[in-house]
Amino acid sequence: MKTYRKELWFDVPTRKAFINITPLVEECLTESGVKEGLILVNAMHITASVFINDDESGLHHDFDVWLEKLAPHAPISQYRHNISEDNADAHMKRQVMGREVVVAITKGKLDFGPWEQIFYGEFDGRRRKRVLVKIIGE
Ligand code: ZN
Repeated sequence: MKTYRKELWFDVPTRKAFINITPLVEECLTESGVKEGLILVNAMHITASVFINDDESGLHHDFDVWLEKLAPHAPISQYRHNISEDNADAHMKRQVMGREVVVAITKGKLDFGPWEQIFYGEFDGRRRKRVLVKIIGE
């Protein structure tokens, strides 16, 4: 069995963003040489997400509006976590959007359903943060 591990680094200039990381994950898969197996992609920070959905800008806007209703950034003082920080909302948004995805690898390709793409969700950016890619298989 082969194993592969890589960290993808992001430095998002805004507080929030959704980035399609599918091409980067596909590069990892090619590098790994794995043809049949599983790929795990997870955010290594508790204020960022990795999730699978459609690469459609209207939907991304809708996610943003929905998350801002669920966990508004302001007023910062509404959160107990923000006694020493200002990112309580980012922790909550990450919790809703998820930590990781697992995708099957079949014949050397990501075995997606229709329109599935992998996204990095940033909720407290403006600093360097990582995503872990782990691949196992043969
Ligand atoms: Zn925090």
